Amino acid sequence: MNRLAQLDHAHVWHPFTQMRDWLRREPVVITSGKGAVLRDVQGRQYLDANSSIWTNLHGHQHPRINAAITRQLKKIAHSSALGLANEPASLLAKKLVRLANRPLGRQSPPLSKVFFSDDGSTAMEVALKLAYQFTRRTRGPKTKPRFLSLAGAYHGDTVGAVSLGHIDLFHKANGGLLFPTDEAMSPYCYRCPFNRAQPERADAREYRKCNWECVRQVERTFSAAKHRSNPYVAFVFEPLMQGAAGMIPQPDGWLRRVTDLARSHGALLIADEVMTGFGRASSKCKNQKSTLAEFACHHEGVQPDFLCLAKGLTGGYLPMAATLTTKQVFDAFQGRYDEFKSFFHGHSYTGNQLGAAAALASLEILQSQECLRARKVLPRVLAEALKSLWSLPNVGDIRQTGLAVGVELVRNWHTRTPFALPEQVGIRVGEAMTRRGVLTRPIGNVIVLMPPYCTTAKQVRQIVAALFDAVDEVLPTLPVRGPAIRPSVAQVR
Ligand code: PMP
Repeated sequence: MNRLAQLDHAHVWHPFTQMRDWLRREPVVITSGKGAVLRDVQGRQYLDANSSIWTNLHGHQHPRINAAITRQLKKIAHSSALGLANEPASLLAKKLVRLANRPLGRQSPPLSKVFFSDDGSTAMEVALKLAYQFTRRTRGPKTKPRFLSLAGAYHGDTVGAVSLGHIDLFHKANGGLLFPTDEAMSPYCYRCPFNRAQPERADAREYRKCNWECVRQVERTFSAAKHRSNPYVAFVFEPLMQGAAGMIPQPDGWLRRVTDLARSHGALLIADEVMTGFGRASSKCKNQKSTLAEFACHHEGVQPDFLCLAKGLTGGYLPMAATLTTKQVFDAFQGRYDEFKSFFHGHSYTGNQLGAAAALASLEILQSQECLRARKVLPRVLAEALKSLWSLPNVGDIRQTGLAVGVELVRNWHTRTPFALPEQVGIRVGEAMTRRGVLTRPIGNVIVLMPPYCTTAKQVRQIVAALFDAVDEVLPTLPVRGPAIRPSVAQVR
């Protein structure tokens, strides 16, 4: 084992990782990256098929982001936002506000204020505290704000964000630390209890006519809270696709319907676009025919009261996050000094200059013609390549929203029987992909693909070919469903 791997084994504790298993295997030690390719200490190359846990937008070592950081580094790396302003953070706030208020169907108060923090969890924590305090200030201090989030929700790992989550595997261990929140039914069409989805019927997914039973369930949840005289103060959601829940897309129209419901019950809207933001879960925006939406909410004409951003904000370079909100919320925190209405929350690196410089460069690239073209074309290339997977009997569902994909592996595609988690099917398929030069990280039995926008069409096909071969290697037992259409692309290594 090389020296760096040994050091890792000796001292590093990895997130979301069973360290006993980790210590049995030699880790891949990444030493460099360029574009969509990562290189390890042995000189092996890998495609970064999950954009380094959904953060990287334009590839590694992007010359424009590198240059922006280098330019900023020659001025200053960091000065505190507690008591001081700085140039890149101010410019970034202005740019985010402009992007977040793209013309929408229905008018809601614009998002005009930006609170910077460090990562997705803190972006959510900020929204949560702001919504909580705003409600108590506007509805009276006796109000006991209660939050509603989606089944399967994951909003980060700080205690507030965990309280909003509903994934037992991640959240149960901290049960005693959490405050209670409620769970609204979320659409999971593949496992729709009303039996609407029939993905196995065709290459493309087919649905029987959906009657929005799941939306009616959400309506019931809102109504029940109202009858208990404790209506929800905020509705928290990931728009268009729930990521950590297993890459679960929402059918067209769902978001609009449930957010209308939430509004009609007086709830604030907290949109977690930590994963979906910056075009990640977007293809063509219906409201703006010629433009691609930067934020998933815009696809359904939804304007939240809080928009939480992180991951892709700096193009995957530096940890930085932002919570955008309205002037109305901002104003509730204004007052005489001795009223102590300030928002008593902040982090040492809030508004960091290097992060803001990287983010400004990343947003410019995001809106460049080249990137817009890639964001239009790549999802189609990916969709086309993914069709080959339907011939594998253990592929139950293929879910794609823009450039975010979840492939759900099942024991039996007829019955949709899941694999038990201890079988580690997702992990084993992921390892087989690594051996084929493609890196990604599964969520249980769901293989996630989320390549950066700089990925070439050929590389996209290589990623899918590696997934095909990996599934075939790990789960070879059942007969093939139809004629196998093996992607005929050379592997990366
Ligand atoms: N919200 C969502 C939707 C996420 O996917 C994540 C992270 N996967 C978070 C919040 C938390 O972000 P971070 O890991 O940067 O704290």
